[in-house]
Amino acid sequence: MRRIAVLVVGVAVIGAICTAAMVTIRAEQHDVSRLDAQNPRMGGIHWARGQAPSARPNKSPNLIYHGGPVMNSGAYVEPIYWGARWGNAAFVADKRDGLQAFYSSIGGSRYADTNTEYTDSIGAVSSSVSWGGDHIDLSQAPASGQKTSPILAEVCRVATNLVSDGYYPVYVDSPRGHSRFCAWHSAGTCPTGQTVQFAFFYNLDGDAGCDPEDTSGLHSQGLAALANVSGHELSEALTDPHLNAWYDANGAENSDKCAWTFGTPLLSFSGQSKWKIQGNWSNQAFNSGTGYPNSGGLLGCIDGGNFPAGNGRH
Ligand SMILES: [Zn+2]
Repeated sequence: MRRIAVLVVGVAVIGAICTAAMVTIRAEQHDVSRLDAQNPRMGGIHWARGQAPSARPNKSPNLIYHGGPVMNSGAYVEPIYWGARWGNAAFVADKRDGLQAFYSSIGGSRYADTNTEYTDSIGAVSSSVSWGGDHIDLSQAPASGQKTSPILAEVCRVATNLVSDGYYPVYVDSPRGHSRFCAWHSAGTCPTGQTVQFAFFYNLDGDAGCDPEDTSGLHSQGLAALANVSGHELSEALTDPHLNAWYDANGAENSDKCAWTFGTPLLSFSGQSKWKIQGNWSNQAFNSGTGYPNSGGLLGCIDGGNFPAGNGRH
């Protein structure tokens, strides 16, 4: 059975637009106990501009709860930078320091609060984020993000503190090439038995298909691009950590539904930290018509800036 599950995952990832296959996998893995530790399902794929599969029409656009957990305690974050180029100062530029500032200031921000309307049986998503330190691994990273298993194995090997509310974003030094996605998130179980959340990010230097076009001058293009997709994947990890909580009838999670649409030019985190980050889908905002439009023209996106969270927190 595991062999079959892995094969199906492979088909879905390589095909990338196989909605039917994706739905089959979701049905297979709604129960987190069945997460395949060898190659867990990829979720929250952040498609490059214009690359997302088209949504099926005539469905409610809102996110639906599927019974799984959300991150009630927020996220403990340990980024991993993987690949030899992370030893090159010109390549690193402002990325490592910038992402530390990003993750250290995003917790409790009005942007992070856009996730807190989503709940499970215990309660709501917490927008708190704690910084656990980062890691550089100069060994060769995979050239592509087509498989989740090498990324999970890297997390299990390199992270110092594997915990249930841990989120381990892995930034490789490889460019996207012909992949149609910029990033994804997933969950899986390490050999210690600990199930964790993790994510994969291509290097996005000079990648127009994954560029938020931040003109603030505060960050290099490569850092600004990583920050935008990092907001996307962290939001989805908070609201759908095991890929069995909140997503819509097409399988799209809260950030997917607002990908590449920006409500506010620059969002403020704590301190002086400012970022251009896409918003997230809010069922409450859509129901009350108070969000900004996503790429399909639906008024369900909020970003905590000009378009505040529908639940009125803060
Ligand atoms: Zn996504």
